[in-house]
Amino acid sequence: MAKRDYYEVLGVSRGASVDEIKKSYRKVAMQYHPDRNPGDKAAEEKFKEAAEAYEVLSDTDKRAQYDRFGHAAVGGGARGGGMNMDDIFSQFGDIFGDDLFGSFFGGGGGARTRSGGGRGRGTRGSNLRIKLKLTYEEMAKGTSRTVKVKKYVICSTCKGSGAKDKGSVQICSTCNGSGQVRKVTNTFLGQMQTVVTCPSCNGEGSVITSKCSSCRGEGRTYADETVSLEIPAGVQEGMQLSLSGKGNAGERGGPNGDLIVLIEEETHAQLQREGNNVVFDLHISFPDAVFGTQIEVPTIDGKAKIKIPPGTQAGKIFRLKGKGFPVVNSYERGDQLIHVNIWTPQHLSSEEKSMLETLQQSDNFKPNPDKNEKSFFERVREMFN
Ligand SMILES: [Zn+2]
Ligand SMILES: [Zn+2]
Repeated sequence: MAKRDYYEVLGVSRGASVDEIKKSYRKVAMQYHPDRNPGDKAAEEKFKEAAEAYEVLSDTDKRAQYDRFGHAAVGGGARGGGMNMDDIFSQFGDIFGDDLFGSFFGGGGGARTRSGGGRGRGTRGSNLRIKLKLTYEEMAKGTSRTVKVKKYVICSTCKGSGAKDKGSVQICSTCNGSGQVRKVTNTFLGQMQTVVTCPSCNGEGSVITSKCSSCRGEGRTYADETVSLEIPAGVQEGMQLSLSGKGNAGERGGPNGDLIVLIEEETHAQLQREGNNVVFDLHISFPDAVFGTQIEVPTIDGKAKIKIPPGTQAGKIFRLKGKGFPVVNSYERGDQLIHVNIWTPQHLSSEEKSMLETLQQSDNFKPNPDKNEKSFFERVREMFN
């Protein structure tokens, strides 16, 4: 099934403010929250879909990328089944605030529905940045790549818990597993009760009595991992694609960071990129310019044949429509511009020399530019429009 547009999922306009997005997400999340729709698979999918949409649209960078490239930019393919419940609940802290959330769902803390307590296990992994060099052809067509990255991955011995075994995880006795403690403070308005993160377990709800020896309790190890990347057509040097959840694993089962891919351009031996257009400097011989010819030129799509009409002047620019780079998220394409240079011989035999000396006197060889022909400056201006 095709992914729905994130703005549509949250029921906001494309120009919606951060506040509007937050508000709408809160509404949708409450409507489809698993606690309110027990066993309802469709509601759960809607809940996840909204969380994913919110994750992207609430982040300025991700939102800008999504606006340009759509789902491809934010790792739509890579993420596959969407966010997991842990990621979603870890988002809720910012959206609802602990008290708010507790009062909506009765349980006191969204994490309660998860593995027995605590408002979020571990800490989120950091983002990972890599550079990816692409050829013109790859940028034009899009490509898939598998790259090896060194990063934190979930410890395979303890599955990320950081504990030696099941018996080494104990419910925190300070907060009885809720991850929160109530604090009473005296103010001039009277006694105020506030809920704060449990200081003994840092809000995790459990404590580890004996650490996993493979990861020394961190729940993650440093290793090589192969990541597959889907690069959409039309990317350019300097663009960043972010893949949610493909960065470093968090500590003790915390959610993964993102993988940020910085696009770099490999220079092409013959072509030069100018925005979405491609420029090619063509050199033809003087006789070819006079008589006209057919010539093969390189393009980002392989070779193309072009016709050089008789009497072609140096500096002429031919345009191959649609042979440039595709514009991301659109059917438009740039053009290839072919700039004609006429090769002036550097060495001549005495025979060639005398032939040219004869031609030098001929009237047909005296420059006589066509007044209707566009000037160099006009052509340059046109070339970049
Ligand atoms: Zn471990
Ligand atoms: Zn605790």
